[in-house]
Amino acid sequence: MIKVVKFGGSSLASAGQFAKVGEIIRGDKNRKYVVPSAPGKRNSKDTKVTDMLYECYEKAEAEQDFKPQLRKIKERFNNIINGLNMKLSLDEEFKIIASNFSEKAGRDYAASRGEYLNGIIMSKYLGYEFIDAAEVIRFDKNGEFDGETTNKILSERLKKSETAVIPGFYGAKEDGTVVTFSRGGSDITGSIVAKACRADMYENWTDVSGCLVADPRIVDNPKPIKVITYRELRELAYMGASVLHEDAVFPVRKAGIPINIRNTNAPEDEGTLIVESTCQPSKYTITGVAGKKGFVAVNVEKDMMNTEIGFGRKVLEAFEVNGISFEHMPSGIDTMTIFVHQEEFAGKEQQVLSAIHRLAEPDVIDLEGDLALIAVVGRGMKSTRGTAGRIFSALSHANVNVKMIDQGSSELNIIIGVTNNDFETAIKAIYDIFVETQL
Ligand code: ASP
Repeated sequence: MIKVVKFGGSSLASAGQFAKVGEIIRGDKNRKYVVPSAPGKRNSKDTKVTDMLYECYEKAEAEQDFKPQLRKIKERFNNIINGLNMKLSLDEEFKIIASNFSEKAGRDYAASRGEYLNGIIMSKYLGYEFIDAAEVIRFDKNGEFDGETTNKILSERLKKSETAVIPGFYGAKEDGTVVTFSRGGSDITGSIVAKACRADMYENWTDVSGCLVADPRIVDNPKPIKVITYRELRELAYMGASVLHEDAVFPVRKAGIPINIRNTNAPEDEGTLIVESTCQPSKYTITGVAGKKGFVAVNVEKDMMNTEIGFGRKVLEAFEVNGISFEHMPSGIDTMTIFVHQEEFAGKEQQVLSAIHRLAEPDVIDLEGDLALIAVVGRGMKSTRGTAGRIFSALSHANVNVKMIDQGSSELNIIIGVTNNDFETAIKAIYDIFVETQL
């Protein structure tokens, strides 16, 4: 059995955290490939090493003195090394980094050094081999991740190494230029490594015990989600409930490898298992509820709209030509409503309205802002009667006015529109009816 384990920045922020990670890895001999992030925040006021590197490199690029900042970064790593009583010097590495900074080796190169150095420390600490991600994670000439080539190179390389540390977040083009993924990208590296070695499990260790049924900032002590499918996770993540980089699911999803989100600070917790498909019912009918504020509803009315072929296309064209993507589009006989992000829409409002008038010649257009969308997600809804009934009676008891309802044909989610002001009340009411009362 092979497990790939990825540890996030907070799990590796200090020597104390490193020691916990060491214990976790040594606790299961199947944990053969380790993907570390750069050291993260040790407390809420701290700065992530990745951010320190970006800042330091900005100075180098502006030809200012970047050395004091680089010394601070070195200190963070030395604190870890000394705290673990290790005999390891990063002096040579920092000399090379300083000279590459002076030569302006690039912002991505700079940011990647956090993972690179943490990987070196981790490999020495565990006695695992170090594999530089620049040699095995490949980006193409345009800086796009090249999954196919990577999989070939990496799977060959891993066959030669029984246990190894592969730093997260970066890779390189064929010519050696370092390229990073977007922020939080070590999650993606972990997934790529899991696919390449055909792992049985991809464990993603972080500082929470997995996904929760609702946002803990809205609901007190929400229950954890034990099992969630990739599709459910995507729905919830889209609505802002994210524990994982969005792109991290693709490599393992294709290979059918489950992801287990675990908590480094509470390793006894089972965490959340993310799977392709499961016949395990979710405990509460719904798997999770999440939402986002800040939408505008653009209501378009036209008599006999239902008979006018192409009307919808013309209305949507007005958004397309202005570069605005729409979220939902519930419609009636003579009305259709387009939900868009308020921020994206605000600056182009009048252009869009005049484009709708020009292209579709409606009778009336009416705007309503400050709306929120809530997604109630659950594979269990398909086979349970009365889910919608329970949601709406809970909302009416909580005095929440429902502005919009949209149920996808997959019956995986029900999207509800409410005012921004009702957002928290609505989430609490939905959580309560399914989890607390469990009728
Ligand atoms: N260190 C990088 C970041 O802060 C990547 C990661 O941690 O996944 O975004």
